[in-house]
Amino acid sequence: MKTIDLVIIGGGSAGMAAAIQARKDGIEDILILEKDGSLGGILNQCIHNGFGLTEFKEELTGPEYLTRFADQVKEMGIPYKLNAQVTNITPDKKVTYSSLEDGLVTIQAKAIVMATGCYERGAGAIQIPGDRCAGIITAGTAQKYLNIHGYMCGKQIVILGSGDIGLIMARRLTLEGAKVICVSEIMPYSNGLNRNIAQCLNDYDIPLYLSRSVSKVIGKNRVEKVILSAVDEKMQFIPGTEMEIKCDTLILSVGLIPYVSLLNNIDCPTGSTKGPKVNEHMETMIDGIFSCGNCLHVHDVVDFVTDEGRLAGHGAALYLKEQLPTGEDINVVPGEGVGYVIPQTIKKSTTEEVTLKFRVRKPIKDVFVIIENNGNQVAKSFKPVLIPSEMTMVKLVSDKLKDIKGELTVRLEKRA
Ligand SMILES: Cc1cc2nc3c(=O)[nH]c(=O)nc-3n(C[C@H](O)[C@H](O)[C@H](O)COP(=O)(O)OP(=O)(O)OC[C@H]3O[C@@H](n4cnc5c(N)ncnc54)[C@H](O)[C@@H]3O)c2cc1C
Repeated sequence: MKTIDLVIIGGGSAGMAAAIQARKDGIEDILILEKDGSLGGILNQCIHNGFGLTEFKEELTGPEYLTRFADQVKEMGIPYKLNAQVTNITPDKKVTYSSLEDGLVTIQAKAIVMATGCYERGAGAIQIPGDRCAGIITAGTAQKYLNIHGYMCGKQIVILGSGDIGLIMARRLTLEGAKVICVSEIMPYSNGLNRNIAQCLNDYDIPLYLSRSVSKVIGKNRVEKVILSAVDEKMQFIPGTEMEIKCDTLILSVGLIPYVSLLNNIDCPTGSTKGPKVNEHMETMIDGIFSCGNCLHVHDVVDFVTDEGRLAGHGAALYLKEQLPTGEDINVVPGEGVGYVIPQTIKKSTTEEVTLKFRVRKPIKDVFVIIENNGNQVAKSFKPVLIPSEMTMVKLVSDKLKDIKGELTVRLEKRA
């Protein structure tokens, strides 16, 4: 069986950044395995602009952004295999992939970076009441049909969920001649970025109904109408609030879930993001297996995916050189107002700055983010506005970690 130092599963933004960083850190023997026919992952279908503002200080389209990294992968001579789907991994890092070119192959990796991205929640996951007819489609699939294959998914469209992909598709379908009747969001606030609400809905006079969801789909062969009803605080439909809307398509933008079935097969512990638990070097709880990007937790901005990919690639390089910090772990837990925090553990002996990434549970203004250990403040920063759709980051210098006993809590406190 062939042995390879570092196998990277998934050639999207996260996987490419991990490969480039690991090579810069001196790892020569790398292989990227990508199941699609090109590098770049989801960015291939994101032809809108808005990518790379942090990384390049430019507004690029998805394909432009990915090309900058794919070009580097090629220039650095990092080997990659396309149309190569990984079908299994083992805790001792055997990686099995299937490709037309090679057949079914198992290789022994010394380290693995998991960068398999995420998948969309579909109609089954949210149990929409009503008919099971054609014309119900997820926003990412509608995006792929339109931007890659040139197919319109419908003419009269209702979008359920105000996630960014749904908002972007509202604009895209409008520009292509469809009528986007409305976007309906079950929460009392949008799950998309503010800039997408302004640029994709407000600019095109597309109404956004908050605290309202689909209570029934009606259609014999294809969707003919949907009923939208208001919901109460317990997300129960309120009788008497029904709105009947004629449409031929219902697009779902109701959440993304890290794609971790390969890790689940080896019982890799997961956190509340549904991605694996990781330490400050993005190493999962399984020795030598690292994770980054949307497969770890769903990101709103690709520049942060790239950064996390670099961190995982750097971690994998240190692992291969036996230079990763060892010893006691500090657990990091979400406190008041915080949904999750990554990483979930930090090696006390780490000498590198650690960035804690988290999302708040609901929109909040004028708050302090407090990092605390046994009631003592380790760090405190003020944030004028925090919303669940935007990841928040707080840096922690390693000097602060030496005296920690027990766990670190990240919590919010309203400014008095
Ligand atoms: C529709 C959409 C619109 C977005 N718009 C913006 C925006 O405007 N601005 C912005 O900054 N960010 C945006 N983002 C966020 C950002 O672009 C993504 O979060 C980021 O590109 C994800 O990178 P990734 O590498 O983690 O995942 P992906 O790009 O999904 O890459 C994962 C790769 O892994 C491969 N893979 C999966 N399983 C296997 C397997 N078993 N074997 C081999 N390969 C496998 C997949 O084929 C894929 O290529 C958007 C995201 C989405 C989904």
